[in-house]
Amino acid sequence: MRIYLFFGPPGSGKGTQANLLKQKFPNISYISTGDYIRYHIKNQTEIGKIAQQYISKGQLVPSSVINQLVLEEINKIKTDKLSDKVIIDGYPRTIQQLEFLIQNISKPYITLFFDITLDKIFERICLRRICPNCNSIYHLIYNKPREDEICDKCGSKLIQRDDDKEEIVKTRYQVYKVQTLPVLKLIEEYGIKLVLIDSSQEINQVFEQVIPYFMS
Ligand code: AMP
Repeated sequence: MRIYLFFGPPGSGKGTQANLLKQKFPNISYISTGDYIRYHIKNQTEIGKIAQQYISKGQLVPSSVINQLVLEEINKIKTDKLSDKVIIDGYPRTIQQLEFLIQNISKPYITLFFDITLDKIFERICLRRICPNCNSIYHLIYNKPREDEICDKCGSKLIQRDDDKEEIVKTRYQVYKVQTLPVLKLIEEYGIKLVLIDSSQEINQVFEQVIPYFMS
């Protein structure tokens, strides 16, 4: 199994690029820990009830919960033999998560680091809208839905994520700097290939940088 890690700060476009890849290569599997957490919160599962208190403050959900989620999803993909390529978006976000991944699942094949400036992060996140049904991602200026506030793919009404409000985004960025960014150094120390994607560019230009890593 080839694991592709999508690494980068909130609002760097990881989910948008993963969605484009899914359209181009339908066989690639996709795990987004943020999407799973939102699914559990929406359905008020036990995991959802625990996660809600963290996500609403912009904090990380405990790694023990997230590690189990990822392990289960990887096992499903393996059992269903869905694909030998898996994108993991938003995980690992701590050193403990990276170590769990390597020891209990598999050493990732490559990490794509979506690099972007802080100004752009705010510009993107504050006008970001998501589909609560199919998880498609839009931006009210750069990636508008065809019909106002309606998902192009499934027709649901788009929403703003609660944690996309400015104050919470500031916390999320701090959490990223303190807890997640140090993971990059360890990724390099483990000898996992690391490539830099200039994520400040337009969606299609970023996609052109990403595609070559999925062609072989
Ligand atoms: P995202 O959609 O990737 O921005 O994730 C949204 C929120 O879900 C984060 O701010 C965390 O509260 C939680 N979350 C997602 N992935 C993880 C993770 N790997 N570890 C801990 N919390 C996570």
